[in-house]
Amino acid sequence: MITSCRFVLVALAAAWIILLSTPAQAALISESQEVAIGQETAAEVEREYRVYTDLTMNERLNRVAGPLLNVAERKLAWRFRILDDAQMNALAVPGGFIYTTRGLMEQMPDRELAFVLAHEIQHVEKRHSIRQLEASLYRQVGLAAALQLLTGGRISQGTANTIALANMVVANRYTQDMEREADSDGIRMMARAGLDPHGAVDALKTLQRNNKSSMPKFLNSLVGTHPLNQDRIRHAEELAGSLAVNAAPVPDSQLPPTDSLREAQVMLALESGPSALNPDPDLMRLALDMQAAPPSESRLEENQGVLVWNFPDTLTEKQVNSGLIDQEMPRVLGSRTFQRYGVSMVQLPEGRRRVVLLVR
Ligand SMILES: [Zn+2]
Repeated sequence: MITSCRFVLVALAAAWIILLSTPAQAALISESQEVAIGQETAAEVEREYRVYTDLTMNERLNRVAGPLLNVAERKLAWRFRILDDAQMNALAVPGGFIYTTRGLMEQMPDRELAFVLAHEIQHVEKRHSIRQLEASLYRQVGLAAALQLLTGGRISQGTANTIALANMVVANRYTQDMEREADSDGIRMMARAGLDPHGAVDALKTLQRNNKSSMPKFLNSLVGTHPLNQDRIRHAEELAGSLAVNAAPVPDSQLPPTDSLREAQVMLALESGPSALNPDPDLMRLALDMQAAPPSESRLEENQGVLVWNFPDTLTEKQVNSGLIDQEMPRVLGSRTFQRYGVSMVQLPEGRRRVVLLVR
């Protein structure tokens, strides 16, 4: 008893020292905890808004995101999705889940879209939501209780703790400093990626003209309650002008298709195939959960409407299309009656990808 008390005290003292010595870097929340909280938050976003699966639009989103991801510092399973909403907005969720709206995709050219994505990616790269979450935890429950909450495997998909933390992420609002940092580092990221950073200035002007949008529940969205001020535009102009860049148009590139794009292809096939299905937010959430805790390592498993399909990274898009979309899915979907689906795709550590498909 005495030993364990002493151990806890030593652990707390050590944590204090870490927190006090490097306040800017002190991370109460680990990367895997961040991903679990992010998945829970992403599920919440997708319960609120329908995911838009138009393939051309998803191809464009992934094409514009590609050069930015090449220069991203954090190695996360980045995923880009479009929300079916006519207003212009965008949202970043911890762990690398980036959302834009259909309205933003329709109204912004590539060079402006590139800035919005770079800005949102920077919120994740700099752990803005997670830093706010750490600060609120510390403020609300104190360090000891926060450490207790975060240790012992209590942060994993679907647990009450994780849901509570995801709700805190949803209800947070970035500080003005965080917005400035996402602007500046987003503009620098564009330059590093070989994209014209002046696209940022145009994007901010477009957003200033269209600042009526809101995602009432998600306070950290790009266009929120406070209008974009002239300072942000002036700062973007100065910074973009100071950066030397071999500006190239966004390439229509031979970049390998990302998981988001493949996922959009699968979703489109499910909605337009011979036995068209409807997306279901609860099944989407379950499919997302299963990325972290997959039910099986097998190549294809059919068990009460759960299908897991693993394929090597080296498979070409054509092989994925003909194997998964043209053969496996129609075979399974054709044999029984299903109405609804949820799907998710993730990159596995060993150079493989996994599709989780749920049908009911
Ligand atoms: Zn922002």
